[in-house]
Amino acid sequence: MKSMTVVGNWKMHTTPQEARILLRDILRGLTHLREIHGSGPWPRVLVAPPFTSLAACQETLRDDEFAETVWAVHLAGQDVFWEAEGAYTGAISAPMLLASGCRAVVVGHSERRRIFRETDEEAVLKARAALQAGLDVFFCVGEGEDQREAGETFAVLRRQLEPLWERLPAGAQGKLAIAYEPVWAIGTGRAARPEDAEEAAQFIREDARRHGWEGDLPVLYGGSVTPENAGSFFRLPSIHGALVGGASLKAASFLGILEAAWKAAEGSL
Ligand code: PEP
Repeated sequence: MKSMTVVGNWKMHTTPQEARILLRDILRGLTHLREIHGSGPWPRVLVAPPFTSLAACQETLRDDEFAETVWAVHLAGQDVFWEAEGAYTGAISAPMLLASGCRAVVVGHSERRRIFRETDEEAVLKARAALQAGLDVFFCVGEGEDQREAGETFAVLRRQLEPLWERLPAGAQGKLAIAYEPVWAIGTGRAARPEDAEEAAQFIREDARRHGWEGDLPVLYGGSVTPENAGSFFRLPSIHGALVGGASLKAASFLGILEAAWKAAEGSL
């Protein structure tokens, strides 16, 4: 049995009204999954809506209709800025995420790195600020296609992780997870081969240990995860769940992935 985590990254999708509907459908589906899987170990479930839909999701999670399942679902931010407040137009801080009901935040997503030109250093500043404020952090790393073809995958992972290990605040244990997301697999329908994901996850966990990390470090896989292929990742010894983009936008496919996580958590995959 292993503890499993599934994070739905809704990216720039869902108005507050749409977010409410999607989350309600997920909660309804979880009630059903619970009937099937009983009170065994639940996977940890998080959804990361756009900032503008957090309030609607927070309200939905207070709805009595879903009292049996709301406790199992938590909110996450999709990004965070490293300062707590100030003249940073458009930015959202860790205390603001906490006050909006978030328990966690995704940091260093490849879309932030590629489109918004975020550097390795900036991603680490964000992770550090979030951890210090008390948020859990899903720290994303992953190589591009050219880098994989050139045999540079581990060098890229090492480069992205090195500043993180150097600047981790005390107390990060139990609050940090790494999301291994090969860039070429995100949103393309071309998931990594499970053996490659396992190899990368082993490398990440080993790299953490080399830098003094003690105990377990959960590694999630992200990149075109679907209900059909989720089990092939969740079965792997070094993968502890998934960061899911496209398939988290429909309750049915997200629930299919959650069911695979449930089976992995109870050891019946
Ligand atoms: C992601 O956004 O982190 C992601 C993995 O997206 P997708 O599942 O659509 O590939």
